[in-house]
Amino acid sequence: MRLVIIGAGFAGMYAAARLRDINGASPEELEIALVAPEPALVVRPRLYEPKPETLTAPLVDVLKAIDVVYVQGSAETVNTKSRMVEIFSAKGAKKNLSYDRLVSTIAPDMGAGPRLLIEDALNKLGVETRLGAGVAALDKSGVTLSDGERIEAETVIWAAGIRAAPLTAQIPAERDNFGRLLVDRDLRVPGVAGVFATGDAARAACDDLGNYAPMSCQHATRMGAFAGHNAAAELLGVPAKPYHQKAYVTCLDLGEAGALFMRGWKRKVEMVGDVAKKTKQEINTVWIYRPRAERAAALASADPERVTDL
Ligand SMILES: Cc1cc2nc3c(=O)[nH]c(=O)nc-3n(C[C@H](O)[C@H](O)[C@H](O)COP(=O)(O)OP(=O)(O)OC[C@H]3O[C@@H](n4cnc5c(N)ncnc54)[C@H](O)[C@@H]3O)c2cc1C
Repeated sequence: MRLVIIGAGFAGMYAAARLRDINGASPEELEIALVAPEPALVVRPRLYEPKPETLTAPLVDVLKAIDVVYVQGSAETVNTKSRMVEIFSAKGAKKNLSYDRLVSTIAPDMGAGPRLLIEDALNKLGVETRLGAGVAALDKSGVTLSDGERIEAETVIWAAGIRAAPLTAQIPAERDNFGRLLVDRDLRVPGVAGVFATGDAARAACDDLGNYAPMSCQHATRMGAFAGHNAAAELLGVPAKPYHQKAYVTCLDLGEAGALFMRGWKRKVEMVGDVAKKTKQEINTVWIYRPRAERAAALASADPERVTDL
């Protein structure tokens, strides 16, 4: 039996770790393949820090420790009828991978469709764009792009929006305004046999009170663990665990002004200033990170019922 995970982000990583743990299934019984362009976790919450290009965590050792096969490439098409994923490698080679269960965890994207219209409107408004380059550094007098170009500016506004990856559109199911697949409490995509969606790719209820998981690492890690558990549970004939996540905190870094730590869906402020800043640093380096590249630690970190002490 083969279980395929698309994406090596927070959800994909924890889905992989959970899958291997359930029922002690061996790699011969249950092959777990993780498809992603790079075997590394991009620590997105820290991308505002200096040297953002260094803020990735390698996953090769972690995946090896839990017997997960890494497949280099980008999933281009998903055929839910023949249960096949078509993958293109960095060198352009095409490969088909069949699956018994599929967990889609793919990342947000602005979406290619509206791009031309947006570019056109910006041109008309006299707004210049720089495509194909990221922001490499940000300082008091402007930004430096990844291709080395320097733009002097007194004010820089970060306004990147997020949307589920276009690949989710290939799953014949209902989606919300962000392109996220609507899932049931077990993170299954209703009506599409063998497909689970999680992390930023899924719109999932966190509780029975009407709260839905936002696109966040905090939720993606737990959703990943539940999706991994449930996809494997279905194959191995063991009970599923409905996704639930009660704890929810928000912590904003305010630069030299410290930080703001809030709890709950009503965002009650609990900490400000240096104390909150210290917590923000702990969140970004301990809680939102990959597990240790050691089997027992990696598997324990993906226990769906694990809660943080924050
Ligand atoms: C700038 C920025 C700052 C953020 N700050 C915070 C924060 O402070 N706190 C917080 O909780 N959340 C934050 N988020 C949100 C958070 O990063 C996401 O919610 C989280 O990463 C979602 O996890 P994921 O696994 O679903 O997706 P990701 O972590 O984005 O991982 C997606 C994976 O899928 C892979 N992939 C994409 N397309 C394909 C394909 N076609 N085939 C194969 N693989 C593919 C990618 O390479 C990647 O490995 C931030 C996001 C951004 C963009």
